[in-house]
Amino acid sequence: MTVSDSGGCGGGIFESGELNFCTQLSENNHRSDILRTPASAYSGLRVLRPPAGHAYSGLRVLRPPEAGVRTPSPEGVQAAWESPILDITLSQLIQGATTPEDTARYRALRDKFAGAWLNALPSPQLGTLLSNESFRIAVSLRLGCDVCQPHKCPCGAQVTGRGYHGLSCRRSAGRWSRHEAANNVIARALRSAEVPCIRESAGCSTQDGKRPDGMTLIPWSRGKSLVWDVTCVDTFAPSYLPETVRYQGAAASKAEDSKRRRYAFLLDRFIFVPVAMETTGVWGQEGLLLINQIGERIAARTGQPNAVTFLRQRISLAVQRGNVASILGTLPEGKELEEVYYF
Ligand SMILES: [Zn+2]
Repeated sequence: MTVSDSGGCGGGIFESGELNFCTQLSENNHRSDILRTPASAYSGLRVLRPPAGHAYSGLRVLRPPEAGVRTPSPEGVQAAWESPILDITLSQLIQGATTPEDTARYRALRDKFAGAWLNALPSPQLGTLLSNESFRIAVSLRLGCDVCQPHKCPCGAQVTGRGYHGLSCRRSAGRWSRHEAANNVIARALRSAEVPCIRESAGCSTQDGKRPDGMTLIPWSRGKSLVWDVTCVDTFAPSYLPETVRYQGAAASKAEDSKRRRYAFLLDRFIFVPVAMETTGVWGQEGLLLINQIGERIAARTGQPNAVTFLRQRISLAVQRGNVASILGTLPEGKELEEVYYF
């Protein structure tokens, strides 16, 4: 089983044999000019037909195109091979999940960009390198493995081997670091797009003194400045689990609604965008749209076509780092790492 994010399908569930199978099929399409003609584009399927009843049976969607229909570009073929397998495998996993947490985790995997951090180039110079320990915990969370021995959080709650309590513990330091890191990435990205901004502008305070996380100093759109507020909610938190079990992204969507209500009074003067993410990496739709827009502006200014992808990866990494800090934050004081964690 791999942890890769394959073809933007939020995978992480491919077995190596399945991945090889898709690669082989797509390479067949790349290498043979004959296969690129509409009449025989998928004739390779006769040779590589999967056994009946296997997850590969999803490949039926790759039937030969009808006459006059343009053949898919070779570059897109591998993702097309993988997509039906991922859908079927995920559906089977969701149906077979034995705990609500597993069901919610599998649903989160369907998010196209939940695994963006896995595709980041690991570079210490770029700040995209996760330490071995951070990577171990992040991958364990994604795969639903145990990350530690059961122990008691300083708040008094019991932490299971999966470590989920740390992701939503009110006393966890990771919540703050995750929030700060994501905001810093957004602020830097806006400046890269030549949109100056400040953090926590006093002019946007609510009656109880709360301020949104940032504001652009020049208009963002329709003559209004952008005001944003970041929040990261836990997919597995008891308050969200009943909904994340049923709907992918339910927690992020709920958090967006909550932020929008809180800052509704700003809408006549500003463009307010809630940037909500879940600990599993699922994006809220409004925040994702904003991040894409910022990335596109950077791309337009710098000529770097991957700016949007890089920006999503950086925020995704910030969430994972926050998860790691949150889980490490449940360690009882005075206890050494090696007493609690697996190696
Ligand atoms: Zn706690």
